[in-house]
Amino acid sequence: MKTPTRRTRPARRNMTLAEVRAFITQLAAANPNAESELNFVDDYTLLVAVVLSAQATDASVNKATVALFRDAPTPQAMVELGEEKVGAHIRTIGLWRTKARNVVALSRQLLERFDGRVPFDRAALESLPGVGRKTANVVMNVAFGDSTMAVDTHIFRIGNRTGLAPGTTPRAVEDQLVRRIPADMLRPAHHWLILHGRYVCKARKPECWRCPAFDPCQYRLKEDLRATGPETAPATAAK
Ligand code: SF4
Repeated sequence: MKTPTRRTRPARRNMTLAEVRAFITQLAAANPNAESELNFVDDYTLLVAVVLSAQATDASVNKATVALFRDAPTPQAMVELGEEKVGAHIRTIGLWRTKARNVVALSRQLLERFDGRVPFDRAALESLPGVGRKTANVVMNVAFGDSTMAVDTHIFRIGNRTGLAPGTTPRAVEDQLVRRIPADMLRPAHHWLILHGRYVCKARKPECWRCPAFDPCQYRLKEDLRATGPETAPATAAK
């Protein structure tokens, strides 16, 4: 994930805690069954899919993992498949050479250090090749039901644009989200926010005219975008 930087102050002000609750509640109502768009069948294939998804779309990862997981559904099988053949499966994904090396190396470490299982422990996860804080947060959230918040480019943008959780680094935004989102909403909020950023609150032109969380949002340009709608909305609304 590119390290985002905040060039402007797109939100009028930070949301109040009541507005944070309303924002998340309205996203939830619009998409109650939100879940990961990555395909996986167990904790191990989830971990591999998330490692492959860095700087790549979920759709491109899903295309590649159909054959990869058929040939190597376990850490043992992945090690036996080897770096070269893993690379051949994922060549359509960005950074595929590094990712092939990491996937084989992390599979070997799972066998050697964790009895072939994905550990439910942040430090242990982050000690694996190719696994950083964001990947560990996704795995802990999706596989183990932990209330973690993985901040990708979409969540970073929404946090700053809407006044939900302003911060100049992904970690700062993560800390704000964990502090400000009600505890009972935190675990699924990861999915609601990612999907909202992917399909509605887009990077270049947020689609405010059809936003389910318009009222609590504090984005400066939201009224302009809603008034002009999809046809003539300015394309300069980034950030
Ligand atoms: S789509 Fe517009 S109104 Fe909705 S959260 Fe994003 S900036 Fe705010």
